[in-house]
Amino acid sequence: MVDLSPYTTLRVPAKTEKLIEINTLADIKKLPSENVFFLGEGANVLFTKDFPGTVAKINLPGINVLKESADSVVIEVGAGENWHKFVMYTAENSWSGIENLALIPGCVGAAPIQNIGAYGQSVDQTIDSVNYFNLSAQKSYILSNSDCQFKYRNSTFKHELKNQFLITSVTFRLSKSSHSKLDYYSRYESLQTEIAKIAEPPYAVQDVSRAVINIRTQKMPDWHKQGTAGSFFKNPFITKTKLADLQNKIPDIQYYPTTGMDYPKLTDPALATSDYVKIPAGRLLDELGWKGKRVGNVGTFDQHALVIVTYPGATGAEVYEFAEAMRADIKKHFSIDLEYEVVIV
Ligand SMILES: Cc1cc2nc3c(=O)[nH]c(=O)nc-3n(C[C@H](O)[C@H](O)[C@H](O)COP(=O)(O)OP(=O)(O)OC[C@H]3O[C@@H](n4cnc5c(N)ncnc54)[C@H](O)[C@@H]3O)c2cc1C
Repeated sequence: MVDLSPYTTLRVPAKTEKLIEINTLADIKKLPSENVFFLGEGANVLFTKDFPGTVAKINLPGINVLKESADSVVIEVGAGENWHKFVMYTAENSWSGIENLALIPGCVGAAPIQNIGAYGQSVDQTIDSVNYFNLSAQKSYILSNSDCQFKYRNSTFKHELKNQFLITSVTFRLSKSSHSKLDYYSRYESLQTEIAKIAEPPYAVQDVSRAVINIRTQKMPDWHKQGTAGSFFKNPFITKTKLADLQNKIPDIQYYPTTGMDYPKLTDPALATSDYVKIPAGRLLDELGWKGKRVGNVGTFDQHALVIVTYPGATGAEVYEFAEAMRADIKKHFSIDLEYEVVIV
């Protein structure tokens, strides 16, 4: 049995029967056709118990420029490349499109799965295609951006293709415009304030990523020092009717548009009468006193109630129990179902 705690950022103990490192495409042949869990850097996974199968740690390397024109560049990146290093490489070259996604932990191969996003950018805005290998069919496939069915923290990889695919590489199309436009991050006041402190307009791509790094370093726990998986839940979508109801309880609750979302059910009566908005789950948790709360070896970060942190000795079951208590509290007080952003195994 292999201990998985060094392989996830929550660092909770869990064992697997076998761990196989995938360093080359040829290594994929070593994998059984079923009962395999693919792992990048483990920044979005909670093992609540031992995994009775094979864990495949994806290390596939490579950053290759496939095409370059006057205004764009197309790059294929191996699934095992570190996401932040790739963002830094693109920013150094003044290629824009993912600079707001600096310092998000994890590998390139995991980025399309939950369509990572931050500060108004999400990775689907730059993904050209995703290459994956289907273990049961023993075949490689290329999925275009539209076939990935990207939505807020969601894609086909979480549904139709769940557990059937190993992402081997991702192809991005980035813009070569040397200066970042203000419009896409103008909604994010903290980013505007930070960038104004460190650079002069017109802002370069690197200025934006530097500002993001500064903010994230102050606002998020350092996962090298403390166990965490970042935001534990997605920001919920609620109807405008529900929003009005919520505003009676939290008058200054922020809300945002939900671009590209589907209604939870086609039978939902809200579909006929109103639109949805996205609200910050962290704010709901703040209202109920979850920020900085600790129970045993699990707690929330003292600056962000949505971010669960672990202390030495924490178990996966303990983290799950804590998270379920958060969900139950939100349900009880606001009748809102929080959905896990972290993959629970
Ligand atoms: C401190 C912190 C801050 C964070 N901030 C953000 C943020 O701002 N925005 C955001 O969107 N996310 C954020 N996250 C979440 C996390 O960084 C992302 O989800 C990231 O993409 C996870 O990458 P990973 O390589 O660690 O994936 P893992 O956690 O290893 O895996 C996640 C899922 O993807 C699957 N998977 C991974 N690689 C492959 C592959 N090659 N083929 C098939 N399946 C695969 C796994 O089976 C699992 O289901 C944060 C996490 C932390 C710890």
